[in-house]
Amino acid sequence: MKFSEYDISPEIKRNLETLGFVKPTDIQFKAIPPILKGEDVLAIAQTGTGKTAAFAIPVIYLLHEQKRSKTPDGVKCVVMVPTHELAIQINEVFQQLSRYTRVNSFAIFGGVEQQPQIEKLEKGIDILVATPGRLFDLVSQGFLKLNAVEFLILDEADHMLDLGFIRDIQDLIKFLPRNRQTLFFSATINEKIKDLAYSLVRNPIRIHVSPKDPVAKNINHSMAFVEMDDKRFFLERVISENPDSKILVFVRTKIRAERVSAAMERVGIKSMTIHGDKDQKDRLIALEQFRSGEVKVLIASDVTARGIDIPMVDYVINYDLPEKAENYVHRVGRTGRGTQKGNAVSFCSTEERPILEEIESYLEKPIKVLEIDKSEYSATLDFSASAKSDWQGLMKQQQEYESKKKKKKR
Ligand code: ADP
Ligand code: MG
Repeated sequence: MKFSEYDISPEIKRNLETLGFVKPTDIQFKAIPPILKGEDVLAIAQTGTGKTAAFAIPVIYLLHEQKRSKTPDGVKCVVMVPTHELAIQINEVFQQLSRYTRVNSFAIFGGVEQQPQIEKLEKGIDILVATPGRLFDLVSQGFLKLNAVEFLILDEADHMLDLGFIRDIQDLIKFLPRNRQTLFFSATINEKIKDLAYSLVRNPIRIHVSPKDPVAKNINHSMAFVEMDDKRFFLERVISENPDSKILVFVRTKIRAERVSAAMERVGIKSMTIHGDKDQKDRLIALEQFRSGEVKVLIASDVTARGIDIPMVDYVINYDLPEKAENYVHRVGRTGRGTQKGNAVSFCSTEERPILEEIESYLEKPIKVLEIDKSEYSATLDFSASAKSDWQGLMKQQQEYESKKKKKKR
C-alpha cells in the first residue's frame, strides 16, 4: 500500500511526496491505522525504521481535521524526547509534514534562555516537542497550560528514564487530561520503562516489529579484538582507508572523546566531538558540520546520539563498547537508516570481554568477529608509526622553514 492510497489529507500526502516517502515502512504501516482510530499504542521498532513519521502523520492529520482555522487554542499534542538535539530533529519532521495544514509545531528544551520560548508559546502552538525538564519548568511557572492536550507521545522513553527524567515525566502527567491518547515509541524496552508505560496507557495496541533481532537488517555489524592502547591506531587506519566516508565514533566518556579527537589531530585527521560537557551551541555546530559532510569524523558519547538521524553515515565505530547492552543497538543504529545500508565495527579489548558477553546475550546471538592475524595487527600499529614519522618529518621541515624565515627577517 502506498501513502497515496491512505485516507489522509492531500496536504500531508504532498509533504510526504516532497520528502520522497512513497510507501510506509513496517512500523508506519502497523501504527498509523490504530492511532487514527484513537487507540493508545506501545510500539517497538528497530532504529532507523521511521518511527517519527509513524506518530507524526496520524497526529497531524487528526489535529488538522479537527481545526477550523490556523489559530491554535492551546497545546494539543506533547511529544517528550530525551535530548535537545532530538527535540529539534523531531520538530523538523513535524514541520515538514504539517506544511500547508492548519497545524503548527515548536520545540523547547533546556540549556537556553526560556524567554524566547515563552514568547513563542504565547502566540499559540498545537504540537510541542520538548525535553521533560524544561517542559516541567515552564508548566510549573505557569507559562504553559497542558489542559487541552489530546495526545501524549513519548519517544525513546527508556533513555529519558536513564537520564533521570522520571520525576519530571510523572509530575507532568498530573497536568495532562486523563482523557487523552498516549503513544510510546522506542527501539528498545526494559522493565522499568514497561512499568511507566503501563501506568500511562489504556488498553494499548502493542506493536513489535522484528523483535527477534534488535539490530536492523541494513546494518552489517562486526567486532574486532583490539587492545585498549592500540585502539587509536586501528581507528586511524579505518579513517585513512575510508577517506570519503562519514564515520561516527562512540567512546565511553566525555574525557575519552576529547582524547581520541586529540590523538586523531596529531596524525592529521580532523574530527569533532559531541558529549554532555559541551554547551548546546557547540553540540549543534558539531552535528551540523557532520551532517553536511564538512567534518567526516564525529566522536560522540552515548547521551547525545540517541535517536539522531544523520543521513549517509557510512561507519559507526564502537571505539569503546557501551556500558549498557541496549546502547549497542542505538549506536549501530545511527547507520543504515531508512533505505540506506551501513557498517558498524566494535573494538573490544580484553577488559571489555564481559561487556561483550552482555551485549551478545542481549542480542541473543554472537557478533561476527573480524579475524585480524598477528602480522596484520602489528602492521596496523606500524601503519600508524610510519604515518606518524611522516608527520614528524613534516613538522621538522616546517620548523626549519620557520627558523630560516626568522633569520632572514633579522
Ligand atoms: P527511527 O525513529 O525509527 O530511528 P526516523 O524516524 O528517524 O527513525 O527515520 C529514519 C530515516 O528514515 C529518516 O531519515 C527518514 O527520513 C526516513 N524515512 C522514514 N519513513 C520513510 C518512508 N516511508 N520512506 C522512506 N524513508 C523514510
Ligand atoms: Mg526515533
